[in-house]
Amino acid sequence: MAYRSSWMTEELDVFRDQFRKYLAKDLAPHAETWREQKMVDRFAWRGLGEMGALLASVPEEYGGLGATFAYDAAVLEDLESTVPELTTGVSVHSAIVAHYILNYGSEEQKKRWLPKMASGEMVGAIAMTEPGTGSDLQAVKTTAKKQGNSYVINGQKTFITNGQAADLVVVVARTGEAGAKGISLIVVETAGADGYKRGRNLDKIGLHASDTSELFFDNVTVPPENLLGKEEGQGFVQLMQQLPQERLALAVGAVASMERAVKLTTEYTKERKAFGKPLMDFQNTAFTLAERKTEAMIARVFVDWCIEQLVAGDLDTVTASMAKYWCSDKQVQTADECLQLFGGYGYMQEYPISRIFIDSRIQKIYGGTNEIMKLLIARSL
Ligand SMILES: Cc1cc2nc3c(=O)[nH]c(=O)nc-3n(C[C@H](O)[C@H](O)[C@H](O)COP(=O)(O)OP(=O)(O)OC[C@H]3O[C@@H](n4cnc5c(N)ncnc54)[C@H](O)[C@@H]3O)c2cc1C
Repeated sequence: MAYRSSWMTEELDVFRDQFRKYLAKDLAPHAETWREQKMVDRFAWRGLGEMGALLASVPEEYGGLGATFAYDAAVLEDLESTVPELTTGVSVHSAIVAHYILNYGSEEQKKRWLPKMASGEMVGAIAMTEPGTGSDLQAVKTTAKKQGNSYVINGQKTFITNGQAADLVVVVARTGEAGAKGISLIVVETAGADGYKRGRNLDKIGLHASDTSELFFDNVTVPPENLLGKEEGQGFVQLMQQLPQERLALAVGAVASMERAVKLTTEYTKERKAFGKPLMDFQNTAFTLAERKTEAMIARVFVDWCIEQLVAGDLDTVTASMAKYWCSDKQVQTADECLQLFGGYGYMQEYPISRIFIDSRIQKIYGGTNEIMKLLIARSL
C-alpha cells in the first residue's frame, strides 16, 4: 500500500491537484528568469495569494484559510517539487513572519498586515542576523530606542531572505540591557521609511531566485505600536517559541527535495546507457538509490509525525531541531549521491539535479546551523 501522510485530507488532495497544475503551468516557466534576475517577480506572490497558498494557517478573519500547519507543509512540498525557486521566500513569509504577527501582534496589527500578506500584496522578511552575529543571536547590536512617542532603529542586518522584496520586516533589535532580556521584535514597514536602505542583493552560490540582502537602519522611526508583544524585552522568548515551526518548515522542504532527487535520478538512470545497459542495471546505481529512497521515507515519516505534533501544539524545540538537522544533512547527501549518478550531466546547470545539489547546501546553515541543532539536542541528554 502506498504511504500517505497522516495529515493529508481529501480537501488537501483537491487543493494540491489544482495547485501543482497552476505551479507547473503559470509559474515554473518563469523560474529561469527569476534565477537570472536573482529575484522572484511580484506577480508570483500575487498568484500564490490568489491560489490560497500564502498564510493558509492564519485565521480567515485575517485573510488566511484558517487551516493548520499541515496546509502550509503541503504548499512547501509542492513548491519544492515543482518550482523550488519559491520555497525559501514563501517559507519565510508564510510559515515564519506571518506567525510572529499572528501570535504576538495586537488586533490592529493583525488586521493591518496579515490580509495583505495573505494576498501577496505585502512580502514579509525577518531580520535577525547581523554581520557580527549569526548563531549567537543574543548578541545582536541593532538598537531600537524609545524617543518621545517613537522607536528609533539603528543598525545593520545581513543575509535577509526577501530583503529586496520586503514591504514588512520584523527586526530583531535591542531595546534594553545586554543579553536575551533586552531583545524585542519591531515591525518596519519599508515603503517610505526614512533611513531604511536595502543593501546589495547578495551573490550566492545557490538559491539564485531567492533575494538575500543586507539591510541598513539609520535612525528609522516607527510608532510604538509596531512593537510585537505587550511590552519590550519579549523578543528572545518569542523567537524561541516560534523556532519549532520554522525548523520543521525547513525539514518539510528537505524531504520534498530528497524525494525529487530520487525521482529524477531514477528516471535518468533507467534511460541512460553505459556498457550497453541502463545505468540502473549496475548494482551500485540501484543500491545507492535504494539507500536514498529508504532515507527519504524515514525522513518523511518522522517529519509527518512532527507535523502532527505541531498541529496538536506539542512539538518541542529538541524534536524540531532533530528534524531540521537530520533531514537537511540527508538532503545534502542525497543530492550529492544522486548528482554522481548523472555523471558529467549532473554538473550542468540545465539538469535540475545540479540545482538541487547547490541549493540544498544552505539548509545545513540557515534556520540555526546544524551544529547549533546538535547543541540543543545534546542539552536534552
Ligand atoms: C541564503 C541565506 C538566507 C538566510 N536568510 C536569513 C533570514 O531571512 N533572516 C535572518 O535573520 N538570517 C538569515 N540567514 C542567516 C543564517 O541564519 C545565518 O547565516 C546562520 O544562523 C549562521 O550564522 P553565521 O552565518 O553568522 O555563522 P556563525 O554563527 O559565525 O557560525 C560559523 C560556524 O561556527 C559554528 N558555530 C557557531 N557557534 C557554535 C557553537 N556554539 N558550537 C559549535 N559550533 C558553532 C556554526 O555552526 C558554523 O558552522 C540566511 C543565510 C543565508 C546564507
